Amino acid sequence: MTPMITSKLPTVGTTIFTVMSQLATEQGAVNLGQGFPDFPMSEALTSLVDAAMKNGWNQYTHMNGLPLLRQRLAEKAGELYGAAVDPETQITVTPGGTYAIYTALTTVLRPGDEVIVFEPAYDSYIPNIEINGGVPVLISLQYPDYSIPWAEVRARITPRTRMIMINTPHNPTGSVLSEADIAELRSIVQDTGILILSDEVYEHLIFDGIAHQSMLRYPDLLERSFVCYSFGKTYHCTGWKLGYCISSPTLMKEFRKVHQFNCFSCDTPKQVAIAEYISNKEAYLGLPAFLQQKRDFFRELMKATPFRCIPSHGSYFECYSYGHFSDEADKDLAIRLTKEYGIATIPMSAFYKHGEDNKVLRFCFAKKEETLKKAVEKLSGL
Ligand code: PMP
Ligand code: GLN
Repeated sequence: MTPMITSKLPTVGTTIFTVMSQLATEQGAVNLGQGFPDFPMSEALTSLVDAAMKNGWNQYTHMNGLPLLRQRLAEKAGELYGAAVDPETQITVTPGGTYAIYTALTTVLRPGDEVIVFEPAYDSYIPNIEINGGVPVLISLQYPDYSIPWAEVRARITPRTRMIMINTPHNPTGSVLSEADIAELRSIVQDTGILILSDEVYEHLIFDGIAHQSMLRYPDLLERSFVCYSFGKTYHCTGWKLGYCISSPTLMKEFRKVHQFNCFSCDTPKQVAIAEYISNKEAYLGLPAFLQQKRDFFRELMKATPFRCIPSHGSYFECYSYGHFSDEADKDLAIRLTKEYGIATIPMSAFYKHGEDNKVLRFCFAKKEETLKKAVEKLSGL
């Protein structure tokens, strides 16, 4: 007989991304649910991985990440955000952004520590806090522009507040933080021991000429931040599961204590390849225009449907509301659209701990134009 255990995450089921992707596969539906591109990544980059493997880069690399890659990432942080980042003490390469977030939370949280989380939230955040004994303090972003209610943030700070989690550009809403938001954040945390977890995996997927408000721009904020990135998003290879975290030397020292006994070191040939490919600046500087064009293409197509656009300014998602023509629960509608219409999306309530349903679906537009056309055609007749 299998011995019983008491679940550490009793209210958690299977992530919505797996649920909807599996349903999409079963139903042969066009998948605009889970976020991943359906167009190919750079062949130059895959060739560099191939070459690295053939050249013998097949053993463990440094536990903090390939030194050359960290050096190049520090240079990039300097060029893009004016940050003085020491690759020796402030950058750690991780197996993806999700792992970097989990590791940061594990590094700092003690039972009862409070973490301010804005909802809708990327679905790993709250379980990651809870499994580390933390208490998520949930604050709803203000519908429909999904801005942060700073007065409420101030009101919810307590002596137990350990961290504030931010995500810009934001998944699932596509909202982005402004300089005014940064000023609010700064005034709240200064002279406190509050840390920041800044999820910036979509740093290069930002539209409408808006500048990304990275914590790396602000030395006083970086000092108290874990800033998390994902190569999967930047180089169209979500399946590589490779990312990195930047922090202050003091915080990073502790982060590495956790990392070294969980992962130790990440995929070597891919780090070798990226360390070289990173000199191709167009590969990331061209992303805003490349994805904005897809967003606009998709938005235009969606005008033929009864859905109402909630404009996205970043990430590869755009949300659409439907409460004006149906009161069906968003999860039911997402399942029905997959089964009856052949298009998979993500119901927004999945990003709320208590399943708040504003009648909104999230669509991933990081797809070939033909995929987007095919998907929206499926909605005709709705
Ligand atoms: N944060 C957000 C907001 C994301 O959308 C993703 C993408 N899954 C991640 C973190 C994690 O990225 P990775 O696949 O590198 O773990
Ligand atoms: N970040 C992607 C999304 O939000 C998928 C991540 C995942 O499947 N875990 O859809």
